[in-house]
Amino acid sequence: MLAGLARDISQQVLRTDVAGMPLEWIDYREAVRLYHAEQVAYDCGTRLYSVFGGYSSIDGSRSRIDVNSIIATHGTSKSLSRNRDKYTPPLNNRTLFKRDANLCLYCGMRYMTRDLTRDHITPVSRGGLDTWNNVATACRRCNNYKGGRTPEQAAMELIAVPFTPNYAEYIYLKGRRVLADQMQYLLAHIPRSSPLHARLSDHLENGQEIVEVHFHD
Ligand SMILES: [Zn+2]
Repeated sequence: MLAGLARDISQQVLRTDVAGMPLEWIDYREAVRLYHAEQVAYDCGTRLYSVFGGYSSIDGSRSRIDVNSIIATHGTSKSLSRNRDKYTPPLNNRTLFKRDANLCLYCGMRYMTRDLTRDHITPVSRGGLDTWNNVATACRRCNNYKGGRTPEQAAMELIAVPFTPNYAEYIYLKGRRVLADQMQYLLAHIPRSSPLHARLSDHLENGQEIVEVHFHD
């Protein structure tokens, strides 16, 4: 049984390693499993919900697990901690569009996810790669107009420099609904020079949670 407190059960939990490095988003089932297996070294953030188990046959008490928004767990996630600096996240449209804040990087207009496309800045037909640094969010109109040309050839200018997210940024981009305390936590792992640092700082200043728009895929 589950007693929802301030948040609903669909809220994801940010899992970190013992050193506090962000690892992944997990759902309440996985969080409860980790608490139950005593894999949680400590937790921070705010309490999301409490999960109640069965009654003890010995003293009639009931087990209860309080799940926090951020939990640090024992053990490491594969070889991630060693390779974190070299980590390149997989490229997909969902996180790409979120990287670019749903803006077409050519006309600067904001679109719903379903109206956006992945533009290869240097077209694949001209040897461009399908990598974070060579892709931009583009509306259909701009993408069609640009066609198989480079921005220079099409006399189009990018309004932002495409970048490869680091690990913490990628976790942020993957989050469906990022609570303020989780955002604050991730922000500490995002370089000040990153455009995402400024964006998250703004959100936090305005007291906003990042709620994903439900349009994609
Ligand atoms: Zn456009």
